Amino acid sequence: MSGIRRPDHDRDQRVVERLGAVVGPGHVLRGADAAPFCTDWRGLFTGAPLAVVRPADAAQVAACVAACAAACVGVVAQGGNTGLCGGATPRDGEIVLSLGRLRRVRDVDPVDLVMEVEAGVTLQAARLAAAEAGLDLPLGIASEGSAQIGGVLATNAGGTATLRHGTARDLALGLEVVLADGRIWNGLRRLRKDNTGYALTKLFVGSEGTLGIITAACLRLVPAAGTREVAFVAVASPEAALGFLGLLRRADDAALAAFEYISGAALRLALAQIEGLSDPLGAPASHYVLLEMSSPRADALLRPVLEAVLAEAMEGGLVTDAVLAASEAQRDALWWLRETLGEAQQRAGATVKNDISVPISRIPDFLRQAAAVCVALEPGVGVVPFGHFGDGNIHFNLMVPDASQGEALMHAVGEVARGMGGSFSAEHGIGQLKTGSLGEWRGGVEMDIFGAIKDALDPRGVLNPGKIFACNSRT
Ligand SMILES: Cc1cc2nc3c(=O)[nH]c(=O)nc-3n(C[C@H](O)[C@H](O)[C@H](O)COP(=O)(O)OP(=O)(O)OC[C@H]3O[C@@H](n4cnc5c(N)ncnc54)[C@H](O)[C@@H]3O)c2cc1C
Repeated sequence: MSGIRRPDHDRDQRVVERLGAVVGPGHVLRGADAAPFCTDWRGLFTGAPLAVVRPADAAQVAACVAACAAACVGVVAQGGNTGLCGGATPRDGEIVLSLGRLRRVRDVDPVDLVMEVEAGVTLQAARLAAAEAGLDLPLGIASEGSAQIGGVLATNAGGTATLRHGTARDLALGLEVVLADGRIWNGLRRLRKDNTGYALTKLFVGSEGTLGIITAACLRLVPAAGTREVAFVAVASPEAALGFLGLLRRADDAALAAFEYISGAALRLALAQIEGLSDPLGAPASHYVLLEMSSPRADALLRPVLEAVLAEAMEGGLVTDAVLAASEAQRDALWWLRETLGEAQQRAGATVKNDISVPISRIPDFLRQAAAVCVALEPGVGVVPFGHFGDGNIHFNLMVPDASQGEALMHAVGEVARGMGGSFSAEHGIGQLKTGSLGEWRGGVEMDIFGAIKDALDPRGVLNPGKIFACNSRT
């Protein structure tokens, strides 16, 4: 099984011509037209594919994959290209299959609480379609204007609604997938219960384009929120944030929709980088929480509950200051602040991104220990963490004066998480950035199982070679 092959200009030309015959020559991009598809969002990886091909439907995707498989050319599925680990970036001589033309919302069913949507629909468009039916697709990520359903599923995206509704995998009821041999698996079932054999939908979700190409999905919906309360809160410490989370859970666990952590340093960086952003509180603090409570009921009395918890938390010294949004515009403004953090860090320059998770109870220890090891390694480092505190997932990001220290810092942060039974990639996946860590962290039996699954579904190593598995270990 090998996806590696010798360069062969004539064969490459024939593959591109064959693909052009499938999708129409106007949907085969090369040269400058292909450039936006060749580099990842962070600018870490670039490749020179033979072409970027834009199929219109599952049948065309299948024909493209079959043509590439026959010629042993690697196929890289690409959605919105917002992935943070280089998973959608081609290597030289591969074909990028861009799914953006599969953009139909096929159905929104308010009785089954399900939507059927094609892979190239952006997450934002899918959420808008659900909202028009009074429903919500409960998955919130800052890149939702560009990220597509196929990419969101292929990376098992998490985000700000995971606390209550789980990750993309929890929302996926059924999929349509093009396999490595060009066959189409129609698993577009809408069932809440279905114990008929292996859970293939769950397997393809999170497989980063290495097991199959997702062309459509049935996704679980929930009733839209009728009442929302959003608060921006300064907490005394990460331990205080944990205590505050406990108070909220005890007061009304079912209504708690999001509990996000923002370090003071991350907020100050965003204020400096993003025009129009302002500090919602009067005085600077070292640690903040952005939280949301919501209910499908329009008359739910969440505000008194939240005010009572805040009063108790202030009395107990957990919370030092807080503001509650008084309007939809203010709610949006507080969430905008949270959503700009990644973009702000990107603009500020050299960053090391660590997407770790630990048991929630260990977050305060993690934040302290990880900061200490980073400062010990690189005294000039800027520690700017934020993330999904309620899921135990912190983006322990760093501003580094010396980019060559990036790998050592990433490793050191990972080791702190590992010591706490954590993960080195909570929601961004492996891509090509973290293949080394995967082998190191998940060696032995687990890697053997991964390899057996890959061999079974993609024996020729055509689908996204060099992703999840390092180039020399598989493909
Ligand atoms: C500002 C910003 C904020 C973000 N916030 C979050 C966050 O809160 N939570 C989170 O989880 N992620 C977050 N991300 C990461 C990213 O947005 C998600 O990983 C997203 O799910 C990727 O979707 P995409 O369509 O851009 O996928 P792409 O980047 O195009 O692809 C990602 C991977 O999926 C594969 N793929 C794409 N489409 C398909 C398909 N149809 N079939 C099979 N494989 C496919 C690709 O080959 C690649 O391996 C953020 C990114 C940015 C830039």
